[in-house]
Amino acid sequence: MSERPKIRLFVDHPLEEGERVALSRDQANYLFNVMRLREGAEVALFNGADGEWRAEVAEAGKRGGVLACVAATVAQANPPDLWLLFAPIKKARTDFIVEKAVEMGVSRIVPVQTEFTNSERIRQDRLQAHAVEAAEQCGAVSVPEVTELQPLAKVLDGWDARKLVFADEGAAGQSPSLSDVFAEAPPPAAILIGPEGGFSEVERTRLRGMEQVIPVPLGPRILRADTAAVAALTLWQAAAGDWG
Ligand code: SAH
Repeated sequence: MSERPKIRLFVDHPLEEGERVALSRDQANYLFNVMRLREGAEVALFNGADGEWRAEVAEAGKRGGVLACVAATVAQANPPDLWLLFAPIKKARTDFIVEKAVEMGVSRIVPVQTEFTNSERIRQDRLQAHAVEAAEQCGAVSVPEVTELQPLAKVLDGWDARKLVFADEGAAGQSPSLSDVFAEAPPPAAILIGPEGGFSEVERTRLRGMEQVIPVPLGPRILRADTAAVAALTLWQAAAGDWG
């Protein structure tokens, strides 16, 4: 495997030796106008299936361009099978949660509508684009899918054997051994973070009644949802994911 170019692009195109990849207008603008690359410059390409490839700029134009794959730099590897379920909050903070989830290594991001969720709508395409940017920045070779916003009750109706770590603000202040608790949820697993308004008693009762569910406290203070997401992802990755 050869060295990895710093500039990375997610492309929806097969990657193998000699493959020529046509760039979208946005990608060409980024490479040739923003990053000022010229022909012969190197870029890392990944598509979520063929690992990462070193590619050379074969054609550089104002509104397009072509990259030619030279050599594989990283084999395809997917992060541990961990989903993040979270209730959307204010737009900027929701963007933040999606970006952190990608950097922290989740395999799927599932926005869920809970009883106390404020913002009714999300822009799934915008959040997916944020996930791509985060994957390009952090060196990932796959991009988690950001699903459409779904009612939490509906997601739970179809829940399979996957362990569900339920960040329950009602358990704040309890102090079990968090490494032990999170180690009880090896992949395939999921983490559920609630909205600013927290979970309703109906939701809490239903969740605590599910055998797949592991309720966890995240310290004695009440964290903002974005803080809680990063904290829970860190604890899980250290105890059961690919940080340990
Ligand atoms: N308004 C609620 C707090 C919601 S915080 C209240 O005052 O009780 C947003 C989400 O972050 C919560 O639903 C929970 O999933 C998570 N969270 C925040 N602090 C937490 C804690 N100390 N323990 C467990 N989960 C926490």
